[in-house]
Amino acid sequence: MSITSIDKEYVAGTYGRFPVELLSGKGSILTGTDGKRYIDMGSGIGVTCFGTADDTWLGAVTEQLSKLQHTSNLYYTEPCALLAKALCEKTGMKKVFFSNSGAEANECAIKVARKYSAEKKGDDCYNIITLVNSFHGRTLTTLSATGQDVFHKLFNPLTPGFVHVTANDVAALEEAVASCKPAGIMLEVVQGEGGVLPLTAEFVSAAAKLAKDNDIPLIIDEVQTGNGRTGKLYGYMNFGITPDIVSTAKGLGGGLPIGATMMNEKMQFVLGPSDHGSTYGGNPVCCAGALSVIKRLDDRFLAEVQAKSDYIFSALEGAEGIKSVSGMGLMIGIETERPAKDVVMDCLDKGVLCLTAKTKVRLLPALNIPMDVLEEAITILKNACK
Ligand SMILES: *Cc1c(COP(=O)(O)O)cnc(C)c1O
Repeated sequence: MSITSIDKEYVAGTYGRFPVELLSGKGSILTGTDGKRYIDMGSGIGVTCFGTADDTWLGAVTEQLSKLQHTSNLYYTEPCALLAKALCEKTGMKKVFFSNSGAEANECAIKVARKYSAEKKGDDCYNIITLVNSFHGRTLTTLSATGQDVFHKLFNPLTPGFVHVTANDVAALEEAVASCKPAGIMLEVVQGEGGVLPLTAEFVSAAAKLAKDNDIPLIIDEVQTGNGRTGKLYGYMNFGITPDIVSTAKGLGGGLPIGATMMNEKMQFVLGPSDHGSTYGGNPVCCAGALSVIKRLDDRFLAEVQAKSDYIFSALEGAEGIKSVSGMGLMIGIETERPAKDVVMDCLDKGVLCLTAKTKVRLLPALNIPMDVLEEAITILKNACK
């Protein structure tokens, strides 16, 4: 039996997988079980931010793996402490809670915002304002936060206490803030799963001001936009705002599961003993890999990310069969004349792995993808769009 047929028989059918069995890889090149070479333009949905089996990341992870693979949170370990310190020093945040995924990082963010607001304003102050077309995760609470009804159907009752407002509609946000007793405002600065749609600078500034003026914790969901993806360390840094709470995951671990919820000065003491926890959270192997990732995301490296982004935009904007290009940094959405799925299947056939987001082709290549490999992939993609 092939891997595909075993998987189809025994793995829950939640994923629409591409007809590809991957075996191994190095950097931005992956190899199928049939020996076929693929250029990876999706990096495991923005996770393997330094590509597959990157030497520095692999060194950090394997060194830690040979010392301690897990300890529980009853003890101190160096990778967890040093990663929290590095994140705080690079963002100005004051405390970090570690978990294992984006959804969990958001769950923690929601708990912090709710507890802060309940203590400050009373426990009828629990609503979290999120945006229509947002994506915050698949647990029942983060699903409730997610402003896309397609994901809600048949999973009722959802967690109460989420109010969805249209993105980039400042008046609607003001109205929600005035009327729903919010405990938090939660945003992705670029809606990823929603179609790689950046929020307007005006809306992000207005949200930050409303949050500040009304003492409402501002949560930025940086699960996809974080860790260098948009050309800055965190996506919010493109907008000149300072969030109260930042959640991140995906690229942070470079390929191992980790989520992080960062809290600023105002939020840093909200969580106390037994308010939250995670058995695997702060796992030393995941943290050692993440620390190696965070250390490399300096200004020089981020400038290279931006240069690659500029190259992609200039190569694709106005090209035959391409209606528009959206996104920031190496998080790119392409509106194509042909159905996105057909374009992606043609790319796959020619050895380029791309993603979709809603009706768009989505690219999330490794941040260190070599320029010649990137050019090869973009040429194939352009031809597939014609
Ligand atoms: C992927 C994603 C999540 C969910 O992350 P998981 O690790 O799958 O739980 C949450 N928010 C955003 C913005 C995402 O892109």
